[in-house]
Amino acid sequence: MSELQKYSFDGIYGLIDLIEGNVNIETSFWNYDEKYFIEHSAKFNKETLLHQYFVVTCLNDYWRDFRKSTDWYEEEGILDDWYEKFNQYNISIPKYKPRKNYDAYKWFSRHIDKFELLFENLSNEAFYILFNNRDFLLKFNKIVSDTVYDLSSEYPEKFITKKGTIKRTNIPVWVKKAVFHRDKGRCVFCNTDLTNLINTFTKNNFDHIVPLDLYGANDPCNIQLTCERCNKTKSNSEPSTSSKYYSWW
Ligand SMILES: [Zn+2]
Repeated sequence: MSELQKYSFDGIYGLIDLIEGNVNIETSFWNYDEKYFIEHSAKFNKETLLHQYFVVTCLNDYWRDFRKSTDWYEEEGILDDWYEKFNQYNISIPKYKPRKNYDAYKWFSRHIDKFELLFENLSNEAFYILFNNRDFLLKFNKIVSDTVYDLSSEYPEKFITKKGTIKRTNIPVWVKKAVFHRDKGRCVFCNTDLTNLINTFTKNNFDHIVPLDLYGANDPCNIQLTCERCNKTKSNSEPSTSSKYYSWW
C-alpha cells in the first residue's frame, strides 16, 4: 500500500452502512478464511481483520443480492454504478450483455474475482473512515474475540497461551504512530495530553480495546491510546473505549 491513496468517498457510506448493520447483529465472523484470521489476529498486520471482514461481508451480501434481484440489476443505470466503481480502481470487467439464459447473477458469479479485487480496494477507503470510530471498533473487536475463542484450539502453540488466549506481542511502531495520531495524542479516557511522552511511551500507553485476556486480538483496530493511570485502572474483565473525541478546534 503506498502512502498516498486517492479516495472519492463515492458510494462508500452505503457499504459502511452494510458493514455496521452486520456488526450490530453478528456474533462472529462468517464464511471467513480460518488460516488468514489466525495469522492476522495473532500478529499485527497492515491488512487488518476489518479489511477482511469488509471484503467477506460485501461478497456474501452481494452474492445473495444479485441472485435474489437479478431483474433489478438488469435495469438501466444500476450496473453503470458498478462499472464506475470498477473504473475508479482501473479494474477491467467485461460488461454485462443480457442474452438468453445469462442474467446479472451469472455475470456477478463469473467475475467474482474482479468483485473481490474491487471490494479489497474499497476496504481501504472504508477503513480510513471506520478506524476513527472507536465505538464501532469496540463492537467489531467483540466479534473478533468471539471468533478467537471459537478457533482457539486451531492456533499454533507459538501464538496462544495455556488458557487459549492470544499471546502478547510487541506493538509495531507504525501501529503506535497511527493510534497516536487518531487519538490526537490524548488518553481516550481522561483526555490527558500525552504529546510530551512521544519518545518515551511504554507499553502501558497502548491499550487493547478488548483485552488479550478476554480473547482480544493483536490487530491495529484493537489498540487505543491511554495514560498509564487509566491503563492500569481499566478493568481486565470488561472491554472498553470512549466515544468522546477531542474536537478539531
Ligand atoms: Zn487517562
